[in-house]
Amino acid sequence: MQCPHCGWIESKVTDSRDNGETVQRRRRCERCNERFTTVERIVLAELTIVKRDGRREPFSRDKLLSGLRHACQKRPIAVGQLEAIVRDIENELYKLGKAEIESSIIGEMAMERLRKIDAIAYIRFASVYRSYPNLSAMRDEMDRLLEDVAEEDAASSANGSSIGSSLGSSRTARSEKAPPRR
Ligand SMILES: [Zn+2]
Repeated sequence: MQCPHCGWIESKVTDSRDNGETVQRRRRCERCNERFTTVERIVLAELTIVKRDGRREPFSRDKLLSGLRHACQKRPIAVGQLEAIVRDIENELYKLGKAEIESSIIGEMAMERLRKIDAIAYIRFASVYRSYPNLSAMRDEMDRLLEDVAEEDAASSANGSSIGSSLGSSRTARSEKAPPRR
């Protein structure tokens, strides 16, 4: 790993922090003595995705991330939140310990997480993944979503933690609770 300050390749690890999904290492360059941090995580390169039509391709986190970004265009969602979703899915996939996995399972994992942060992005993503046969199937999905959001709002205003009752303010209330990103 090259030093970002001077390009030297030798560095000493001064601290290691394992947080389960990743390991962060503090390093000190052996030439210029500047400090920097590297992150290690499991690469799911060996995982094969089985598409709906039976074709197979290697798992690509970039592809997953770009699918999520596409659904979240012009929505108030930080890139860091999407990267966290991808990390979370990768982690779950790794735990499954399979060599092959259906693309629909990854799609469901992504939808489940998107649904919690932004209803519009969720519907956009779901409309691609679930390919609703017609408008009324899509409307049924939205009705379910609206019912769920209403229930969640009723539950959270009952314990006084939320003032929102519409879809929009509910989402805002949730995103304000998101941890700050560096
Ligand atoms: Zn250096």
